[in-house]
Amino acid sequence: MAPLRISFLIRSVYDLLPSNANLVHWGKKADPTCLLCHGRQTTEHVLSSCKVALSQGRYTWRHNRVLQELASVISTAKGQSNLPSPSLTIFTTESGAKKRAAGRLR
Ligand SMILES: [Zn+2]
Repeated sequence: MAPLRISFLIRSVYDLLPSNANLVHWGKKADPTCLLCHGRQTTEHVLSSCKVALSQGRYTWRHNRVLQELASVISTAKGQSNLPSPSLTIFTTESGAKKRAAGRLR
């Protein structure tokens, strides 16, 4: 993993990213307000709980970009490998029932 990504991950886990709330706490800013929703902008707020970001589809976009990146890496790895790809995946539902999915997640 790239050093900057590791740094971001560690700083997000320990709430050391420069959110407005942290900037106020560190004496770098006077206002902890989120520019989108006017709530208190903490790291958690930015990453997962801003209602305006949610309504604008920002979290969905980020989620989909991560999945696209994973699909790209997997596709590249499969292209470089001689391993056969599985033709059938069996998923277990919350009730314990088994469902088959071929080709893509359902
Ligand atoms: Zn917000």
